[in-house]
Amino acid sequence: MELPDRPLAPATRLAHAGRAATPSATQPVAPPLYQSVVYRFDSLEQLDGVYAGTTPGYFYYRYGTPNHHQLEQLVADLEGAEAAVAAASGMAAFSATALGLLASGDHVIADRSLYGGTYTVLTAELPRFGVEVSFVDPDEPGALARAARPRTRLLLLETLTNPTLRVTDLPRLATEAHARGWLVCVDNTFTTPCLIRPLAHGADLVWHAASKYFGGQSQVLGGVVAGSRALIERVRSCVIHLGIAGGAFDPWLATQGLATLALRMERCSQNAQRVAAWLEQQPAVARVHYPGLASHPQRALAERLYPDGCGGMLSFELRGGQAAAIAFLRRLRLIAFVPSLGDVTTTAAYPPAMSHRNVPPDALAAMGIGPGLVRLSIGIEAVEDILADLEQALAGEGA
Ligand SMILES: *Cc1c(COP(=O)(O)O)cnc(C)c1O
Repeated sequence: MELPDRPLAPATRLAHAGRAATPSATQPVAPPLYQSVVYRFDSLEQLDGVYAGTTPGYFYYRYGTPNHHQLEQLVADLEGAEAAVAAASGMAAFSATALGLLASGDHVIADRSLYGGTYTVLTAELPRFGVEVSFVDPDEPGALARAARPRTRLLLLETLTNPTLRVTDLPRLATEAHARGWLVCVDNTFTTPCLIRPLAHGADLVWHAASKYFGGQSQVLGGVVAGSRALIERVRSCVIHLGIAGGAFDPWLATQGLATLALRMERCSQNAQRVAAWLEQQPAVARVHYPGLASHPQRALAERLYPDGCGGMLSFELRGGQAAAIAFLRRLRLIAFVPSLGDVTTTAAYPPAMSHRNVPPDALAAMGIGPGLVRLSIGIEAVEDILADLEQALAGEGA
């Protein structure tokens, strides 16, 4: 479309400012941000083609932008999935998955160690729509069989659990779930597709908080779900209908963050391995949870599922309990006390007061979360500096 040849009044020229396509034979190297709510059509035929999906094109922001699409393509490719859909946050992605795939009367089985936000959607929101949920320890023999109901639809798992880093046996659980006709949906936020691709181990859907490792610098809020084309189209409909795709800026940032994901996961896995081994030697530390350690109860499974490293997340229990944990967190200088993870810098969290704040003490104990448990998200700094900060913060704790 071209503007008319005759002279236009200033008000008209201003209103149309910057809207002409940029004449350029060259393409930008960095992905542009597509901050346009609507797209212009040449004709009704073109509009029909875009609506039908036979002509590539975009029409309205709520349906997703080229920035959403780039992130979706990248994640689908990394996860080995046919398709993916991006949403405004990890919880938006999960909520669209649950609402898109479940109906009133359906039943969900979930690992009892799921992320607190997922747990809250399952317990505070879905029951009002007639969806029932059972929580299990999937390592307990017969746990799935006992929880099974005629209308069980979905098994919800995480690759490594928070905060005690239990390794989920995806191949075994997916086989058992499929034998019963359930779908398996795995949260891969902690490990990312650089370390594990749950679909290759039998999962049907894999989802991410792009808010963590994808952006990698605590500047992105976003989520992505990947799986078969049929399942993702169902989830995408929900994202569009509920209006929870979010803006273009966050997927734009997440896509750029992903450029360095492989390097960051390699480095934080190496650093975490060193930190975990060092922490195990400290008298003030009672226990270290990291699947890369020989002392981890599932070391053989971890070696099989995580040949390229076990990621940057670890936790440890201070002998001095809550008082020791509080003092340790206060003494940290390089490492920030942060209720998140996946940053390029090392951060610390205190699960009993953060992610597991609303879990009663006996349930915490059953999950292996004592009052002295501190979680670390190991970053990509020089490991000597991480160790030095931990050392000075542990000094004075004694044994
Ligand atoms: C942060 C997180 C989520 C939720 O992501 P948001 O983007 O905060 O909604 C889900 N799962 C895990 C494991 C997380 O750490």
